[in-house]
Amino acid sequence: MKNILFITSLLIATGVASVQASAQTNEEYLEQGAATTEKNHLNVPFVKPENWKTPYTTPGNWPIFENRGPIDRSPKDKSSKVLVMGTGDPTPNPYRYGPAMAVIVNGYPYFVDAGEGWWRALAHAVLTQDALDLASVFALPNLKYMFLTHLHEDHTVGLPSFISNPYKFMETGDKKVYGPEGVDEMIRHINAAWSIDRHEMAQGSIGRGPHGSTAVGIPVWPNTGLEGRIIFEDENVIVEAFPSKHGFLEHTYAYRFTTKPDGRVIAFGGDGIYSQGLVAAAKDADILFIEGITRKNIRFATWGGDTEEEKVKTIGAYHMFPDRLKKVYDESGVKRIVLVHVQNYSDPENFDRLGVLQEMIDEGIVNILLAQDGDLY
Ligand SMILES: [Zn+2]
Repeated sequence: MKNILFITSLLIATGVASVQASAQTNEEYLEQGAATTEKNHLNVPFVKPENWKTPYTTPGNWPIFENRGPIDRSPKDKSSKVLVMGTGDPTPNPYRYGPAMAVIVNGYPYFVDAGEGWWRALAHAVLTQDALDLASVFALPNLKYMFLTHLHEDHTVGLPSFISNPYKFMETGDKKVYGPEGVDEMIRHINAAWSIDRHEMAQGSIGRGPHGSTAVGIPVWPNTGLEGRIIFEDENVIVEAFPSKHGFLEHTYAYRFTTKPDGRVIAFGGDGIYSQGLVAAAKDADILFIEGITRKNIRFATWGGDTEEEKVKTIGAYHMFPDRLKKVYDESGVKRIVLVHVQNYSDPENFDRLGVLQEMIDEGIVNILLAQDGDLY
């Protein structure tokens, strides 16, 4: 009897709720939404989760960095720019897209890495960074060249978007993905994995040909010495590859772009620790985009072992502690460093949004900035 009463009252309640919902005006809907805006975008004020030890609630996922929108920090006297589309890492940080950047020369983009949410990261940048006409720069026929620093999942999981989404908008051009050995196999597998989608578009009412629905993976090799090898050149850029060091990957690269119209030298370190190849890639460069990780708060990292000693050893085989970046800075003579892919395992009780940047500055790196999604450099 009790149960019947309960169910009956539940039905009545649901019925009432749906009547009310359908009676809402547009203004009422908007008012309801407006009440939640503080949880939108940068999530300010931010409510710290009680249990911060899960992959979803770790401080590495909190709204780190400044509370700001995208900034144009590019040199005004240079036409070549770097767009940072995603500054994230494998932690599922809802405020940062996966690693993704683009060098823009003569209004034409050259992409570096394709992290999680690549297609949305691009749209986010187009919509939020108004210093350039990015919608024209990233016109679909221009989405052509991608350079991968290494084949870890977090730097490549956006490749299916790079390959397939322009095709869905009727773009038929070729796409080329340059990267370490294995990139050809990876692209072949992605092409094959989405063959059902491609065939449906070709056979169904859309009646598309297959052209533009796949990409070609082009493996490139750096010199084994420290001289860069030119792996790409066109009328806008020269791209050189250098061997870097990241965990136990056999092939991981740093890239050095030299822009032809205005002679900017732009280096991308990808992930990794100090290496002579990385120093060579950044030698006297104007700017280096590189990862960084806390050393001070490494004990709060959610991976790499149980003790601080274990974490330093394990994580230290993969990522850039401040003292190592200082060595790269000193030996390369690079003029400016921009941090991306930052792992801010801050103390949850004493959370510091800019903690990793501060550690780098304390180490003696003078000209260093922290990037946010949508920034121009
Ligand atoms: Zn990696």
